[in-house]
Amino acid sequence: MVTTATASATVHAPDALMLVGGRWVAARSGATFPSVDPATGAIVGEAPAGEGADATLAVDAAHEAFASWSRTTVHERAALLRRVAAILGGREGMLAELITAEQGKPLGEARNELRFCCHLLEWYAEEGRRAYGQWIPDPLADRRLLTMRRPVGVAAAITPWNVPASMVVRKAAPAIAAGCTVVVKPAEQTPLVALAVARAFDDAGTPPGVLNVVTGGPEPIGAALLADVRVRKLTFTGSTEVGRALLRASADTVKRVSLELGGNAPFVVFDDADLDAAVAGLRAAKFRNGGQTCVSANRVFVHHDVAAQLGARLRALAWELRVGDGRAPETEIGPLVDRRAVEKVAAAVEDAVARGARVLTGGSALTEPPYDAGSFFAPTVLAGVHSEMRLVQEEIFGPVAPLIAFDDAREVLEAANATPYGLTAYVYTRDLRRALRMAEELDVGMVGINDTRVSAAEAPFGGTKQSGLGREGGREGLDEFLETRLVALGLGEPL
Ligand code: ADP
Repeated sequence: MVTTATASATVHAPDALMLVGGRWVAARSGATFPSVDPATGAIVGEAPAGEGADATLAVDAAHEAFASWSRTTVHERAALLRRVAAILGGREGMLAELITAEQGKPLGEARNELRFCCHLLEWYAEEGRRAYGQWIPDPLADRRLLTMRRPVGVAAAITPWNVPASMVVRKAAPAIAAGCTVVVKPAEQTPLVALAVARAFDDAGTPPGVLNVVTGGPEPIGAALLADVRVRKLTFTGSTEVGRALLRASADTVKRVSLELGGNAPFVVFDDADLDAAVAGLRAAKFRNGGQTCVSANRVFVHHDVAAQLGARLRALAWELRVGDGRAPETEIGPLVDRRAVEKVAAAVEDAVARGARVLTGGSALTEPPYDAGSFFAPTVLAGVHSEMRLVQEEIFGPVAPLIAFDDAREVLEAANATPYGLTAYVYTRDLRRALRMAEELDVGMVGINDTRVSAAEAPFGGTKQSGLGREGGREGLDEFLETRLVALGLGEPL
């Protein structure tokens, strides 16, 4: 781990207003809450502290807007999404600074996140034009059966802080392309990024009520959105625990639900793997965004024959990673999102060490200057990890790589699947047959084979088991916001 200097940068945060019904408004109570820079502890800006009544006003607006937005042509919707992409692209520098200030990731990663937003907007601008129905061969001569795809209605989108811009866009773009209207409730750690994204939608000419953002308390806003019968769809990304509660709360009004929840990704390195590729893969899948993504490698299974070698290389990698303020150009790992996150990661590491894990490098929070005002954790590699340890059973969400040695493929497959989660798995091997068999038998939504880049605007992203319901991205991401309506057309007598 290498320390980088703290860079000072000015971020032009939006005013403490949120977008409801096409107007920038304060919370009804007038209250605000601060957004804190995790690298410095400084206040980035204030966001409205919305509550249930604010959420209901947003639903009023979204419901009213749905009547006209659902009748727009696919060309109008595509044109809007392209304009938003152009505006976000033009603001990449300023918005990347805001992402880094509020969430902590290095500027380069923040820029990549914004490019991903543009890809999503451009993809759904196109994909919305392909929401085809069907003409179904009919067993009756005097009837015709056809289907059309209809927008679900008002969608509530509850988004997390780890990729605060692209999570909003990954939900809003397909929803709007489908003809739905949206109420976004962003994470309380990153409200300003969500508001800046909303500003781009507003500046692009999004009609009032089509996209609304309500910042503030998760429970009251969530409860108001889920109790409202006019909200027909919930799309959520966050922890499995909260997802489960939201799914339960959606039952009363039988909402359509998409959930992107926690993961516990196995990263399997066989003895024939290209170790350079595996180390590069771990650098991305373990340390990007400080390990704070649901597809981060959580358990590194390595074949006994290459365990020592991989351990040494990973230790060197973690040791050399430059940790610091995300604004410093040389920074490779920024802070964790807040102090609570640091405590959680530290507790998981302590539990592992108490149960016999060996710390190859790192292992604790960084509390000395220049890290003392922020929430930093040292890039960590642990060896001698086994299944009793908490960090094997739970999502770590931090820059900690636990190494677990294995002997044969069947053993590692069973261990990899021995979790309630099923989001992503990574397999490094040169044996094509083994790679494909693993891809077939790993119970997950996404498998990276000699590659960790499982997320693309064009491809379905999502999990099995308790990692979620539904998919985001790709054609499937649009389907989540569409209903299929059957039309049975009586033709009467032949002409
Ligand atoms: P994390 O633990 O990574 O912060 P959460 O699942 O707590 O993940 O948060 C994801 C999103 O869910 C955030 O926008 C958060 O505000 C929201 N959230 C958390 N609890 C609730 C709740 N009870 N009702 C509605 N939204 C919630």
